[in-house]
Amino acid sequence: MSTPLLEVRNLARHFPAGERSWSGAPRQVLKAVDGVSFDLERGESLGLVGESGCGKSTLARTIVGLYPATSGTVRFEGTELTSLSRSAWRPYRRRIQMIFQDPYASLDPRQTVAQILDEPLRLFGMGRRRERRLRALALLDAVGLNPRHVNRYPHEFSGGQRQRIGIARALAGEPDLIVCDEPVSALDVSIQAQVINLLAELRERFGLAYLFIAHDLAVVRHLCERIAVMYLGRVVEVAGREALFRSPAHPYTQALLSAIPHPDPEVERTRERIVLTGDVPSPLAPPTGCTFHPRCPHRGAVPGNRCATEPPVLLTDAEGRQRACHLEPGS
Ligand code: SF4
Repeated sequence: MSTPLLEVRNLARHFPAGERSWSGAPRQVLKAVDGVSFDLERGESLGLVGESGCGKSTLARTIVGLYPATSGTVRFEGTELTSLSRSAWRPYRRRIQMIFQDPYASLDPRQTVAQILDEPLRLFGMGRRRERRLRALALLDAVGLNPRHVNRYPHEFSGGQRQRIGIARALAGEPDLIVCDEPVSALDVSIQAQVINLLAELRERFGLAYLFIAHDLAVVRHLCERIAVMYLGRVVEVAGREALFRSPAHPYTQALLSAIPHPDPEVERTRERIVLTGDVPSPLAPPTGCTFHPRCPHRGAVPGNRCATEPPVLLTDAEGRQRACHLEPGS
């Protein structure tokens, strides 16, 4: 078997929180990401879904090296990234790019689009001035913006157009992997579909792999062939898109899916919805055992109070689906 493009193993990112003890040690630890593992193949698009605060964005930032990992590994084509020095990271900065949620905050308002796109091209040593200029124009064209607007400033564009500039900037270094951190959440619904279609088209054209983070399963449905569901810092289910939407195996995924409205009003009127009680617990004091157990409608079906005492392990079945739950499969 060939090496995956990205291999994440038991990755954790904890933050010290609250007051410190007399010895200087933090009294509390916020476990934003707590033992996440998955693979991503070259050219594949993996959706990572979960409610706000479940650790998705922290996971994304830890993978791209913006946060140091507390423990665990991130391998890119077999090279371990978490232990690399800043200078050793440099070649991977070009090959692993990120698109941020907020197209307003992620672009420098004092720079023209030409300057925004020239920065990574210069940093990665991609041609002389004139070649870089031509490349910037080609990038604008690739993301559906008018190359004649290259000397405009971000405030002269709409929200969707600014996100296209962010996508063009991510493409500048000809990456293999783009980590997309909720890239359409801040956009109007009508614009979201356009940006998702653009990302799908670019992936096809440039053979890109995406780790696509969203809080909405409906958003990843059109772009990702595999989906990982995250709850309170951990992955609870990973499955192919069709299998996940047809028969979600984890109680949390079942609840997330049941919240998506059905387009047929008749089906929508009669379908059963799973309403979760309570809020997502604080990662400062996660529940014992399965962290989903205080909200899980099935916890009573597992004998021996295991749900409250024993953390379920993410196990892989014969078809390659993964699930972390003590319930018997199919029950
Ligand atoms: Fe629910 Fe128990 Fe499964 Fe957790 S392990 S999802 S509490 S049934």
